[in-house]
Amino acid sequence: MKYYDKLIFELSKDGRCGYSLPDAGWTQTTSSIPDGLKRTSDPGLPQVSEPEVVRHYTNLSQMNFGVDTGFYPLGSCTMKYNPKINEDIAGMSGFKGIHPLQPRSTVPGVMKLYNDLSSALSAITGMAGFTLNPFAGAHGELTGLMIMRRYHICRGDDARTKIIVPDSAHGTNPASAAVCGLEVVQVKSLPDGTIDVDHLKTLLDSSVAGIMMTNPNTLGLFETRIEEIAELVHGCGGLLYYDGANMNPLLGTVRPGDMGFDIIHLNLHKTFSTPHGGGGPGAGPVGVAAHLLPYLPLPRIDGQTPEENAGRISGFMGNFSVLMKAYAYILMLGKQNIRMAGPLATLNANYIKESLKDCYRLPIQSVCKHEFVFDGLADQSTGVTTLDVAKRLLDYGFHAPTVYFPLLFHQSIMIEPTETESKETLDAFIDVMRKIAHEASVKSDTVKSAPHNTPVRRPDETEAARHPVLKYQDMVAPSAS
Ligand SMILES: *Cc1c(COP(=O)(O)O)cnc(C)c1O
Repeated sequence: MKYYDKLIFELSKDGRCGYSLPDAGWTQTTSSIPDGLKRTSDPGLPQVSEPEVVRHYTNLSQMNFGVDTGFYPLGSCTMKYNPKINEDIAGMSGFKGIHPLQPRSTVPGVMKLYNDLSSALSAITGMAGFTLNPFAGAHGELTGLMIMRRYHICRGDDARTKIIVPDSAHGTNPASAAVCGLEVVQVKSLPDGTIDVDHLKTLLDSSVAGIMMTNPNTLGLFETRIEEIAELVHGCGGLLYYDGANMNPLLGTVRPGDMGFDIIHLNLHKTFSTPHGGGGPGAGPVGVAAHLLPYLPLPRIDGQTPEENAGRISGFMGNFSVLMKAYAYILMLGKQNIRMAGPLATLNANYIKESLKDCYRLPIQSVCKHEFVFDGLADQSTGVTTLDVAKRLLDYGFHAPTVYFPLLFHQSIMIEPTETESKETLDAFIDVMRKIAHEASVKSDTVKSAPHNTPVRRPDETEAARHPVLKYQDMVAPSAS
């Protein structure tokens, strides 16, 4: 253990501090804090010098894994590199100083940027207009479904309370639908991983509000019968919702608007390179086809308040700095280069898939888009599970892929390399994945007890959920509870 791996509380020395301000001679005479809320004892913060604080936080940052420290092939999560120029642009002084309560008339530049970003997203997706307000993908889903509900209700079609969701869908889809008060009906996948259109036909009636789809779906497969599906759903009076969280594989190639989708959301924090993870700030803009423009929520970029609006889903107009980072990324790539994102994401995923399919079980063989799913090791006799493989990867300096999702397979390992990785990085990852498959047969105990090289070893997940240790005090003296 390195000296500075010690927790900052252990470095505390009475009377030590990182700053000294001159005494300004003030005494506090009145206070608006009610007596009952006033602190009666010292907060017990560690007493340390400034260099100790800096080293503490720098060390903490290095105990975690991030896309700036290594390859992060997290399926359905598009952990691509975040260009640093995005940060510089979002941090420009003219942007940092504005306040959400400022009158619109004092920020015409911001309104222009919102307008330009929204036009760029419309051009990329084939939708007629966007709201930039939602703060995350799931928030976008809820917003989109509220638009869908409002559309049906405004037309007096209020019996449409069912939403069709494929069994391969991301978990947020049925969750958002439930939050929106819709009843989720599952449509099955065929053995090839695409929607079972015959099953879909049996679900369509006048109680259906619409269908929520991801295309390419969560198995990384393009739903080739999308036009037929659109015709069927529209034919029964429903709308098509597109989960565009990970749109990289389609960028500049195919547009959801052209596939027949009426409402979509994008995760700017995935597809458009803004940082995310750990619940960090996101942006989930929602785009609609022309007939749904009046239903976009308030406040709106055009300043209008049509009666049909789906309400307010945020106090202000979105996560401004995230929106600016995504816009910087779009402008940096430009119309020509953005077309490269899809083919590169697809090539990278297929390269890994083909290079590993002799060591890992590949349940769906077809060409994938930006991601694909293995179902555990090819040799299942070793007892090494997907979780063990994921943990062992950390020892070799790679973040684990998404595991145990989608639920269609018992040992899912979902890999999405993204378009920003070099062939050398992909080769290094492939080598390690092969090595782990080999270790599984010759020294399975090492794999089953991994990780061995990380600051935190394998936690007891049941114990961690039942008795979480969230405070330093609990670590040194576990509480009785
Ligand atoms: C990540 C993701 C979401 C949810 O996005 P959040 O920003 O995490 O709420 C929804 N659908 C798909 C397919 C995703 O990959």
